[in-house]
Amino acid sequence: MEKNSSFAIYGVLGYPAKHSLSPKMHNAAFQELGINATYNIFEKKPEELEEFIRTLFLHNIHGINVTVPYKESVMPYLTKVSSEARLIGAVNTIKVSYDKLEGFNTDGEGFLDHLRRDLGFMPTGKNVAIIGAGGAARAIAVYLSRIKPRFMSIYDIDKVRLKELILYLKEKFGTTGYIMADSIEELNIGYCNLLVNATPIGMKDSDPCLVDEKLFHKNLLVYDLIYKPSETKLLKAAREKGAKVSNGLGMLLYQGMLSFQIWTGKPAPKESMRQALSSAL
Ligand code: NAP
Repeated sequence: MEKNSSFAIYGVLGYPAKHSLSPKMHNAAFQELGINATYNIFEKKPEELEEFIRTLFLHNIHGINVTVPYKESVMPYLTKVSSEARLIGAVNTIKVSYDKLEGFNTDGEGFLDHLRRDLGFMPTGKNVAIIGAGGAARAIAVYLSRIKPRFMSIYDIDKVRLKELILYLKEKFGTTGYIMADSIEELNIGYCNLLVNATPIGMKDSDPCLVDEKLFHKNLLVYDLIYKPSETKLLKAAREKGAKVSNGLGMLLYQGMLSFQIWTGKPAPKESMRQALSSAL
């Protein structure tokens, strides 16, 4: 396919960010559609953040993804923030135009797209448990809440963050029953159809399983946002007990497809992006 004449730069901003698989996924998409662009890694220290964001346009950068730890701290520098990103309180995608910086959050929608399209799981009327109340959990809790699960229990070791999230969800989405769990046991996993791990626990070999294996059952889908390793201890134990399982690679793909569409206005080439991710792992 013929290339466009103007060259554009995209990338992921984070600290650290070197481990990111997003360059593989987006560069495959640009190649597939013949878009004259490249996707880089922008690893910036906190003291470099403001200058970097304010000069994006000057460096021919047309769009960026934002990852840990900047999803919240970039928000004050943006001209416009989408209603979804405002609701979630975090931005993972920035579209750069010559006169404005627009912020979006595609994490929650990406999670839901994967859940519904590829895993065939419809959360409406279901019971959901989430471990974690950070940025990703917040995006997932908001998007799930919009389609009305029956109850949603959430647990986090950070009790302040947990309480804030529960109060916020109760105020915004009255129809779901929200439970602020004081422990994993209080999540009521035995009654749940979906359990989401939205903590980084499971990435390291030395990390524990988080959930007592006795709590897994056949009517449960266990979704771990982690994709490296592809099977965490949590997913292994759940699978062995007959639960359905998924790692976070599908969410990574769908959130990336949504970012791509925001930047380019074109439908993202799902299969090339999926293949690029699979081979990178
Ligand atoms: P975050 O903002 O740091 O939130 C994680 C939360 O989990 C924090 O509140 C943390 O508390 C809490 N936590 C840590 N250990 C815990 C434990 N043992 N039990 C209960 N809560 C615990 O991180 P995030 O941005 O939400 O990301 C969470 C995970 O999702 C990361 O692994 C990230 O890579 C992954 N992720 C995946 C995708 C994808 O596309 N697949 C997208 C976004 C994020 P403390 O701060 O006190 O430790």
